[in-house]
Amino acid sequence: MILRTMGKRISAMGAAASAPCSAAATASVLANQVVRGALALAVAACAVLLALGLAGPAFAEAAATAKPAATAATKAAKPVEITISAAGDCTLGVDSRYNSVFNGYYNRKGAAYFLKKVRPVFAKDDLTIVNFEGTLTTSKNRARKSFTFKGPAKHASILTKGSVEVANLANNHSRDFGAKGLADTKRTLKKRGIAYCQNSTIAYKTVKGVKVAFLGFNELSGVTKAQIKAGIKKAKKAKAAIIIVSFHWGIERDYYPASVQKKLGRYAISCGASLVLGHHPHVLQGIEEYKGRYIVYSLGNFCFGGNTNPKDKDTMIFQQTFTVKNGKLTKKDDARIIPCSLSGSKSTNTFQPRILKGAEKKALVKKMNRLSRGMGVKVASNGRLK
Ligand SMILES: [Zn+2]
Repeated sequence: MILRTMGKRISAMGAAASAPCSAAATASVLANQVVRGALALAVAACAVLLALGLAGPAFAEAAATAKPAATAATKAAKPVEITISAAGDCTLGVDSRYNSVFNGYYNRKGAAYFLKKVRPVFAKDDLTIVNFEGTLTTSKNRARKSFTFKGPAKHASILTKGSVEVANLANNHSRDFGAKGLADTKRTLKKRGIAYCQNSTIAYKTVKGVKVAFLGFNELSGVTKAQIKAGIKKAKKAKAAIIIVSFHWGIERDYYPASVQKKLGRYAISCGASLVLGHHPHVLQGIEEYKGRYIVYSLGNFCFGGNTNPKDKDTMIFQQTFTVKNGKLTKKDDARIIPCSLSGSKSTNTFQPRILKGAEKKALVKKMNRLSRGMGVKVASNGRLK
């Protein structure tokens, strides 16, 4: 009974507080001493409840509207954390001259199957980027090369079902089916809400009020320092607080970065990249810390339809939480690797990356420490970078 009465009084107080501008008018109307007395009682009751931490939502709301300026100021000064996940080569199709196994998996198991086991990580972060190594097209105009990858447009839903928001298209397979193949791929990704980056095309994403830019360069077809510098400058001008630069580079099946990778990766950081992501070797390479930023030299394969049984199935998700304060990126960053296998089987590719645990996880952490030796990065047993 007492609580109910108090509740009513709080509501009355809330109504009065939410209209502070009409206080004078209210005062004249409330000339009646009895009403004044009731209000005073309500104020006293509220004070007691506030002290006890029992103030109802009505009162809390009224208090919040009473001081909008102070609330906004507090919010602006608060640092914003943005978590970005990155994974390697995703080839969501096949080279039908060899096999069509991946397409068979899609038809039997559906789109959600492929990234099902990593989705909890990707769904929890703010943004996920992968290297999209292939095309989504019906074009028959196959380029003259050993491996050409394509899948039907519906395969794009593997990314949307897996909570992937950004795809790098700067690689040596985006033109496997000519200009039309690339245009079809871009149109499909766009239609599904997946942003893409490639050379001068920068993908922008805004999360929690922070603008993030994704740039991608294919070193294999040649990229100049001037292009890298111009791209990063453009992203800065567009007010991106976080700038992620992907490079398709290196030598296939090589575990250590070539000198061109080191040169370009460090150069991108010097120009203002917040993080450099690498791919193409199809295997993992080390992580370097350079000027307080990370260069992930190769993320390896991830959801890879291009090979039904890659010998080295080790892969990982690289994840970094960036802190942005007053629109500027702080140096205090938090990064980790999530050791994975690209397959559920050791003897075949099930095209379903899974997070490693126990001894397998331990072995991959050990491998990353070996590959990152001399690069200023140590990976703790839980995957944290230190
Ligand atoms: Zn490649």
